[in-house]
Amino acid sequence: MPERETLHVAEFLGDGISTELSASVHQVAQALPITVQFHPVDLSLETRRRQAAVCYDEAMAAIRAHRIALKYPTVTEKESPNKVLRERCRFSVIHRPVASLPGVPTRHDGKVDLHIIRIAVGGTYEDAGRRIGDDVAVSIRVIERRPSREAALYAFRLARRLSCGVVSSSKHTIQRATDGLFEEIVLEVAREFGDVPHQCELFDALLYKLVRNPEAYRVIVTPNEYGDFLSDMACGMVGSIGLGASANYAFDEHGNVDLAMFDPAGGTAPDIAGQGVCNPSAALLAFGMLLTHSGFRGLGTMLDEAIRATIAAGESTRDLGGPHSTAAFTAAVCRRLTPRA
Ligand code: ATP
Repeated sequence: MPERETLHVAEFLGDGISTELSASVHQVAQALPITVQFHPVDLSLETRRRQAAVCYDEAMAAIRAHRIALKYPTVTEKESPNKVLRERCRFSVIHRPVASLPGVPTRHDGKVDLHIIRIAVGGTYEDAGRRIGDDVAVSIRVIERRPSREAALYAFRLARRLSCGVVSSSKHTIQRATDGLFEEIVLEVAREFGDVPHQCELFDALLYKLVRNPEAYRVIVTPNEYGDFLSDMACGMVGSIGLGASANYAFDEHGNVDLAMFDPAGGTAPDIAGQGVCNPSAALLAFGMLLTHSGFRGLGTMLDEAIRATIAAGESTRDLGGPHSTAAFTAAVCRRLTPRA
């Protein structure tokens, strides 16, 4: 019998339902035809209160050693662990897939299957701004070449893999210097990908067209804040903000992914923590993204499809109106993990 491949994954444990989400991911990992070795680091609030510096150092050592991490929801008290990790890992790009989920009610009848690629830094988010007197306030908006290029490269590579085009979006006709630089860099990258169609759309027009005809869009790349807005709007279109996952990437000097961290959308849900009833779909989707990123694309797709089929069959957790506990839902997903011939 051939030896099973082993995948090493740093696992950043958090608060609330984090332990239950992690148990669900482990249950699925056990059902895969590879060995997944998790290397846990405790980033819970209790541990951070006692020794924040130590646990962040451990997290950094783990992600540097294994290059990939799965992070569960954490409480923000003094510092935001997401912000600390983003800065220490130098994550510069966020990939947020948003797709319609059969079985999840929505007010929108279009089929959404989007990959939102967003610069993870800059835009209007670095500078809290300042007041000038009582009636005026200013802040600085930052667009940098390196993360813009990394986001564009990531978007074009993904589009090539998905055999689709890339839409870049900003307000370059108004924010001529900043968004102008962003679009200029996207265009440079587009020229390196002659086989991938590129289109530039003003962000306001994009929102309008996307709501009217979501099927026309697949990979969209934007500066930080636009990607933030767009992700939430797209989640609203598919009926849920908590059922998605995202990937955070840091790149080497050749533009290749150096570190990757995957995390479920949604918070720590303290009101239901410990009851065994939380919905682990987002954590499992994050794990699916991790598998795909790590070269196990077939397994990532299989897991994604198994989650969707389980929800579509009504075998969901109670937040979606289904009958299942976290463990029973996870078992139903595992039953659908049948490798294709
Ligand atoms: P945080 O401060 O960490 O964001 P929160 O409770 O304020 O925590 P969420 O965690 O997003 O915010 O929870 C909002 C609501 O959604 C809560 O009622 C929670 O129980 C529910 N919820 C969140 N995540 C899940 C989940 N995975 N499964 C089921 N219900 C969830």
